[in-house]
Amino acid sequence: MVNEITVKIKKKSAQSYIKGYPLLTKEALVTVPDMEEGVILRLVDESGRFLANGYHGNQNKGIGWILSYDEKQALDQAFFVTLFEEAFAKRQVFFNDDGTTAFRIFNGEGDGLGGLTIDYYDGFLVLQWYSHGIYKWKSTILAAIKTAITARGIYEKRRFDAKGQYLESDDFLEGDTAPEPLIVKENGINYAVYLNDGAMTGIFLDQRDVRKTICDTYAAGRTVLNTFSYTGAFSVAAAFGGAAHTTNVDVANRSIPKTREQFTVNELDPVAHTIMAEDVFQYFKYANRKELAFDMVILDPPSFARTKKTTFSVAKDYGKLLEESIVITNPNGIIVASTNYAGYGMDKFKQVVQEAFKNQGRDYRIIEQFTLPADFATRSSFKEGDYLKVLFLEVR
Ligand code: SAH
Repeated sequence: MVNEITVKIKKKSAQSYIKGYPLLTKEALVTVPDMEEGVILRLVDESGRFLANGYHGNQNKGIGWILSYDEKQALDQAFFVTLFEEAFAKRQVFFNDDGTTAFRIFNGEGDGLGGLTIDYYDGFLVLQWYSHGIYKWKSTILAAIKTAITARGIYEKRRFDAKGQYLESDDFLEGDTAPEPLIVKENGINYAVYLNDGAMTGIFLDQRDVRKTICDTYAAGRTVLNTFSYTGAFSVAAAFGGAAHTTNVDVANRSIPKTREQFTVNELDPVAHTIMAEDVFQYFKYANRKELAFDMVILDPPSFARTKKTTFSVAKDYGKLLEESIVITNPNGIIVASTNYAGYGMDKFKQVVQEAFKNQGRDYRIIEQFTLPADFATRSSFKEGDYLKVLFLEVR
């Protein structure tokens, strides 16, 4: 098993760990020892009093996570079984809902173990590991997962190359292989997913409540522009809610067949929708030239992306993105503005929105607001864990 070292926490940081802060940072340590990834860290305060046990794993966020505040708690398979059983029990409403077969069943530090998430796709599990350190625990953790739940098959995504990015690999671990595509349901709508096709599966499960709200409340009769559309999941939800038409714009060529497929698996005709491989900022120019306008514009960009024509970063460019959208949104139309950029809290995001509307001389009203859904458990001692910010803006 992994060995253990004792590390001293600075006086000014000890209090936050006592209050349940789950992330270990370099700055909190009196001295940073030479540590092997995965090693157990016994945290003590400057007078040597026990604070918590954690593990070392380098992530962009920090250098490890807290595991337990109980000095006597062994960090063995039984410990992980308890963590997983508790987390899975909390998702009972999802397991009982026939209309939704894809959801998150373990959300890292929100469920007591930072660095690992587990998503459930109609009986198949997708594990995501965020550091070499947590990956060293793989055999114990896998055994614990299998004790806590029966899976049809298990896949993994290793997200810990030098930049914290996904490592390209065969992601199948064990059990049965999933069909390609695997059809999962979400609030009665079908989505085609691929569990072994790179970093992304085809659907972002954290947007479930947003898709439902678009479908149930705002789509009917509206024309929709879905930018950064990926597989067009928002558009399929809008079409189900009675949208008049959707336009899907994503720079990646793969998004065309993938979006067609999402419509087709719901017996919706993809030909009735516009699906384009194009840089969003080029598309805005085109829309202006053609004097196009929409009743709903959806903005869900990656935090950072470089294409042949543009470099987009939420930090620098979200305001511009909003302004371009305001121009092509019909009066009383809706902009769905979303970001998972860690550098923005909800307040900052709202400021960016306010500024963009001010620059355009237009009025708006926030009509819906979302953060992570219930299955993406977060904890109050770690607000940064709730990375999702979504605002529905009614344009006056
Ligand atoms: N909104 C999607 C997820 C978006 S993922 C959903 O709900 O499923 C981010 C997508 O943005 C990727 O598919 C990527 O190809 C696309 N992208 C990145 N930069 C872009 C740009 N400048 N123009 C258009 N699409 C872009």
